[in-house]
Amino acid sequence: MNDIFARAKKENRLILTEIEAKQIFTEAGINCTYTRLTRSKEEAATLSEEIGYPVVLKISSVDITHKSDAGGVKVNLKDKAAVELAFDDILASVNEKFPDAVVEGVSVQGMAKPGVEIIIGMTKDPQFGPVIMFGLGGVMVELLKDVAFSMVPLDKNGASNMIRGIKGYNLLQGYRGQEPVDIGYLEDLIVKLSDFIANTPEIKELDMNPVFAYNDGAIVADARIVLE
Ligand code: ADP
Ligand code: MG
Repeated sequence: MNDIFARAKKENRLILTEIEAKQIFTEAGINCTYTRLTRSKEEAATLSEEIGYPVVLKISSVDITHKSDAGGVKVNLKDKAAVELAFDDILASVNEKFPDAVVEGVSVQGMAKPGVEIIIGMTKDPQFGPVIMFGLGGVMVELLKDVAFSMVPLDKNGASNMIRGIKGYNLLQGYRGQEPVDIGYLEDLIVKLSDFIANTPEIKELDMNPVFAYNDGAIVADARIVLE
């Protein structure tokens, strides 16, 4: 983590890449999709073989916050040909839409299986300090603003109350044949995040969006960290 902070400082930037953010969260014991940077389509293809198909390719640039809006995310790539094509498509699209963006390369990551989409974040309140946000992902969070907030530090009981605080809590308990998600695992994830935030004052805000939640765990598919 400290090497990542040092590099960002040296490069005079406050935003970490998804790759860096996932590395930091992984070190904090939070399960993230295995994600690595590549700089050529050959490298991307080799790494994809190593990770195992299907994979996801994404633009890696601190200048691009919404990667999908830039045509910078390709999911469910099932073979070498698909990976090579996606690599070129991503760069072409980003080049067209954000010609001035400094592009580090293209990240290759494992494809998470479908699950309930969740969003977990942290912002700092001038009065209360770090506040963790938990909510349902996708359309639910954008349209219904179905999120709950809680101050750091949070213990398991606090995490449990926050999760139970969202309107869509029953969605997590299983809905229309969908399996219930592992709420205890999400509570532990939030406690780990709370401990991590309490010990890492260098971070100004962060989000994990989406986290896919399952009946036996959860995995972070996209991550962002902004430094103080
Ligand atoms: P953005 O910068 O636009 O938020 P994301 O990294 O969140 O880009 O990717 C957009 C969408 O693609 C996600 O909301 C998720 O549905 C899907 N996605 C991204 N990464 C993965 C992954 N590793 N496994 C499965 N789905 C993914
Ligand atoms: Mg995202």
